[in-house]
Amino acid sequence: TKYIVVSGGVVSGIGKGVIASSTGLLLKTKGYKVTAIKIDPYMNIDAGTMRPQEHGEVYVLNDGGEVDLDLGNYERYLNVTLSRDNNITTGKIYREVIEKERKGDYLGKTVQIVPHITNEIQDWIQRVAKIPVDETGEEPDICIVELGGTVGDIESAPFIEAMRQFQFRVGHENFALIHVSLVPDMHGEQKTKPTQTTVHSLRGLGLLPDLIACRLLVPQALRDDTKEKISMFCHVAKNQVFGVHDVSSVYHVPLLLQSQGIVEYLKKRLNLDTVKISNEMV
Ligand code: ADP
Repeated sequence: TKYIVVSGGVVSGIGKGVIASSTGLLLKTKGYKVTAIKIDPYMNIDAGTMRPQEHGEVYVLNDGGEVDLDLGNYERYLNVTLSRDNNITTGKIYREVIEKERKGDYLGKTVQIVPHITNEIQDWIQRVAKIPVDETGEEPDICIVELGGTVGDIESAPFIEAMRQFQFRVGHENFALIHVSLVPDMHGEQKTKPTQTTVHSLRGLGLLPDLIACRLLVPQALRDDTKEKISMFCHVAKNQVFGVHDVSSVYHVPLLLQSQGIVEYLKKRLNLDTVKISNEMV
């Protein structure tokens, strides 16, 4: 399985879910089987106990799982059926580890965040990534893992550390990271400093972005000189910098990413040509 992790920086709610689903959709149109996992770094077992003003509406899956609306995005964009295990929360991970501890599974060891919580996160992702999500019943080729919250939060720290370890567990050619950042537009000037800062903290935690998706909260596209500047200051090539400006419908986001060469980049980066395609749609 190939894993594409989508993390976010600067602020939440900038369209990480839409970028993650759009990336999955583009790969699906190339014939790959795509599944998705959403990580919500809160202690609630699921979103079912949070009021809508607190969390936004709850999305209910076929198996009764009460989860984040992003799972709904994935089901619609990817035309798949997900289960409650496709939504990982801090609460679910801790519950699993504490139950194992009570059973004596850790053989008398001290149970710690590293390695026990971080291993549980990685095991969970690998287990769920293999579950078939469509009528063919075949194992997915690609798993999109969306990490909720923003890099640098205490809440998301165990998940970031788990992802740092995961890139070595599954190998470089099976792990790519898309980091979604905010590029504020100040009276027509596109500011790169927040992106520089968030990429810097990501690197400090041991994760190197393969793609930086720059979200602009205005209808103007990311300018070429802004791309160049981000490439220069964030230590990535220019073709690894993507602009995602405000569009009239979120269903335009896949085309926006496609026009900037995301599929070609990921194909090369993840060696996707070695993955057998079952149903080419385009
Ligand atoms: P996150 O996952 O970062 O919390 P979402 O993907 O849920 O964010 O998006 C937050 C909101 O922004 C949604 O209502 C979505 O429709 C909207 N949105 C996301 N991307 C765009 C875009 N490129 N243009 C316009 N609206 C967008």
